[in-house]
Amino acid sequence: AELPADPSEINTPRQVQQACYSYVLPKKPSNPSLIHASIEVANSIGLSQEDILSADFLNTFSGNTVYPGTKPYALSYAGHQFGNWAGQLGDGRAINLTEVVHDNKTYTLQLKGAGPTPYSRTADGFAVLRSSIREYLCAEAMHYLGVPTTRSLSLMLSGDQVLRDVLYNGNPAYEKGAIVCRVAPSFIRFGSFELFASREDHVNLKLLTDFTIKHHFPHIKKEGVEKYLAFFQEVTQTTLKMIVEWQRIGFVHGVMNTDNMSIHGITIDYGPYGWLEDYNSGWTPNTTDSQHKRYRFGNQPEIALWNLYQLANALYPLIEDAKPLEAILDAFSTDYEKEYLNMMQNKLGFQIKKEDDTVLIESLTQLLERVETDMTIFFRNLSNVTKKDTAITTFNAIKDAFYNEKDLDEAILKDWYNWFENYSIRINQETLSDSQRKEKMNAVNPKYVLRNYMAQLCIDDADKGDYSLLKELFEMLKKPYDEQPNFQKWFAKRPDWARDKVGCSM
Ligand code: AMP
Ligand code: MG
Ligand code: MG
Repeated sequence: AELPADPSEINTPRQVQQACYSYVLPKKPSNPSLIHASIEVANSIGLSQEDILSADFLNTFSGNTVYPGTKPYALSYAGHQFGNWAGQLGDGRAINLTEVVHDNKTYTLQLKGAGPTPYSRTADGFAVLRSSIREYLCAEAMHYLGVPTTRSLSLMLSGDQVLRDVLYNGNPAYEKGAIVCRVAPSFIRFGSFELFASREDHVNLKLLTDFTIKHHFPHIKKEGVEKYLAFFQEVTQTTLKMIVEWQRIGFVHGVMNTDNMSIHGITIDYGPYGWLEDYNSGWTPNTTDSQHKRYRFGNQPEIALWNLYQLANALYPLIEDAKPLEAILDAFSTDYEKEYLNMMQNKLGFQIKKEDDTVLIESLTQLLERVETDMTIFFRNLSNVTKKDTAITTFNAIKDAFYNEKDLDEAILKDWYNWFENYSIRINQETLSDSQRKEKMNAVNPKYVLRNYMAQLCIDDADKGDYSLLKELFEMLKKPYDEQPNFQKWFAKRPDWARDKVGCSM
């Protein structure tokens, strides 16, 4: 049927039954303008630099016009938020424009912040510039770090003002509205399956699962129960791999609700995320989670497993046998331990694997927590250590990582020296030369990550219309493992003013 020209006629918030999605129309922005676009992402979907600068690009990816022949839609899904069942959620401020096939790969193009949908509940469907910059930059940073993630195609200003907060003095705080176009194979989440399972709508549960496997997991050739188990097994594995990558680089997602878990094992929904600066497994960037810290760094593997249990429950009606699902879930923890160990051995530059490595790794993570120690700088500097180094010279090689050298009392220093001695023994068992080890370590220990204060500086400038820092960070984050001497100033600890300053979720 023809869509009404006025989006408000179809965007009324409601419970949507027996449907995976609803057709919607983006809200026309009053004065759209392009802030930034990723040429790499554009190329990957078959667009050129010239296309990026075209009126079509501006109109399509700001939601100003619907591209001919496409029918934008918002997905319905449910989810567990902070461990509690939340019922129907859905794309409240996301609109899928269309799917594109390029070089045999399928991409879904999705606008975030392009106006209300049937799933907006009590919120407005818009996004502000600051959260859009955070999402836009971080997704690309993650991609170049080698972490599975959604990508960012474009960042636009809508030209409209968005009300996010009311100040303490009662005045409304308007902010610049923005629209990000993000790209992923699909935006299907664990919560997409939970929606139908919770309603005991097994007809649509089966339709969605069959569709998902047919279009996004076509390599699964099995049929019936075996097909669903193979799907669940693959989601479990890719999710596990994603978490190992998060732990490798010190990324904390902050809102690992089941509606924010992609079935592709890619990082999705960059809200109140953050990067470990001082290594602290109890840290979460999400201020609304500061009491229970459910989504803290050290809890991410366990939460991933908890979320996979919810997906297993949702798929159960199609399988009707808990045993094989439990077997997959039971393997998660031991598989994770294995992958985590392997990842940490790589971070430490070990090529041969020794049984005692677990002890060395555990004592290291404990030491890193004793006093504020910058995770990124520690691992990057550790690659400068040579086989001939002593505990003292090793200390000198990494000491920039300590936020306050004065925190190191005699007992802590003694433990560090002890660890450095063991590390020296360990690298001397390797046949790799110092320079080979350094090269190997530098390929997994990034020099540049998107520290929270960096995103904040960029947001402050962008709010005044200055996008030079955004462009600088975007370029730098494309090569996080390279030395990039011209960006050396960003290889630094978080400045003191930025301590405990966290991002935003809305
Ligand atoms: P999140 O915590 O960002 O994953 O969002 C949880 C749910 O709230 C999802 O269904 C979102 O679509 C919805 N949501 C978040 N912000 C907005 C907004 N500004 N307008 C409409 N829906 C929103
Ligand atoms: Mg979300
Ligand atoms: Mg969000």
